[in-house]
Amino acid sequence: MAQHQVFLRKGKEKLPFNRHPWVFSGAVERIVGSPMAGEVVQVRTADGRFVAWAHYNPTSKIILRLLEWDESMEVNDLWYAAKIQLAVELRRQLIAADTTAYRLIFSEADFLPGLIVDRLGQYLVVQCLTSGFEGIKSRITALLLEHVPGIRGVYEKSDGDGRKMEGLPNRMGWLGGEGLEEDIEVLENGCTFRVNLHDQKTGFYADQRDNRALVSGLAKGRHVLDMFCYSGGFSAYAAQAGAAGVTLCDSSVNAITLATQNLALNNPTSIPVECHQADAFQFLRKLQAEQRTFELVVLDPPKLVPNMHALDRGLRAYKDLNLQAMKVVSAGGFLATFSCSGAVSAEQFQQMVAFAAKDAGREVQIIRLLFQAPDHPVRASVPETAYLKGLLLRVV
Ligand code: SAH
Repeated sequence: MAQHQVFLRKGKEKLPFNRHPWVFSGAVERIVGSPMAGEVVQVRTADGRFVAWAHYNPTSKIILRLLEWDESMEVNDLWYAAKIQLAVELRRQLIAADTTAYRLIFSEADFLPGLIVDRLGQYLVVQCLTSGFEGIKSRITALLLEHVPGIRGVYEKSDGDGRKMEGLPNRMGWLGGEGLEEDIEVLENGCTFRVNLHDQKTGFYADQRDNRALVSGLAKGRHVLDMFCYSGGFSAYAAQAGAAGVTLCDSSVNAITLATQNLALNNPTSIPVECHQADAFQFLRKLQAEQRTFELVVLDPPKLVPNMHALDRGLRAYKDLNLQAMKVVSAGGFLATFSCSGAVSAEQFQQMVAFAAKDAGREVQIIRLLFQAPDHPVRASVPETAYLKGLLLRVV
């Protein structure tokens, strides 16, 4: 295997030895050999001790993604297959039969840094976020088709900032398999959702599954406002659970189209449904002007803090949103509020909520701390894999 060796600067081996898989270019002292982007290399300390096998990419700030800490192991198809099987086994244990949409491989958290795979019914949607996986995606596709039962096709949807930072172009299209439909239906806890494989992210936000179930437990008889609804996940559950009505808001036309379709699929008692294509910040103010209130509000914005530099600005945006949302919660009603920004800690999020409540002139009680669903595990050595946080609040 790889003869190439990358030596770390003195003192830069601590995190890698602690199994954090990212090594930044500044931590590298010298390279022996001439590895190509995406190749597997040996990582060694300044004094030559073996650290790990890693994917190498000189274009990325994260020049190494560590894969295997046992020098005697070879990172080959058998190695990738073992990791894939480990991930498949976890989901087999976690996911019930009435859920067919979930994350099958979550990058670092499933020991495959740079590879994300979502299952949507009989299809897999793959994101290769590093040149390491970009270079072997046909092999990975073959391994997925071999080791994941019941798969008809593998679709690639590799895009976003991560790809850009790796120096890789966006790519979408089928990688393998057959039965190549792009519009499909999936189940989540028995609710039906239409998914278009061309859509943003990987077409469905499975990380909110458990929170949708929890929030829907409060929906019966309540008027529900679903802010940043995307494909209507929270509202569909609420309609199934017998909400008095659901009002949805998203700025994307595509999202509103999907949400409208999904509400039609999950509305057994024909409760009133209002779908608004609007900017959330403006829409919340409009609701206030109309003096409308809701007994249950869901606030699930996109990542408002993409990185640490954007922390202050992003926290202000979260605070404004939460403040405006609290104003439309009826007295004693509930607000389920979320942040999917990894750069915002649970403590910062809670503090932001406290400030928002103060400025809204409301008292809030935290009923529950919310988190990403367990098909998005957190690897203990990689705190960055914990990203979705939320609070279920009672607003009095
Ligand atoms: N709650 C959804 C996921 C939300 S993802 C679910 O359960 O599936 C975030 C959504 O916010 C996206 O659909 C995006 O279109 C929308 N969005 C982004 N900026 C917005 C804005 N300013 N106003 C309203 N919606 C916005």
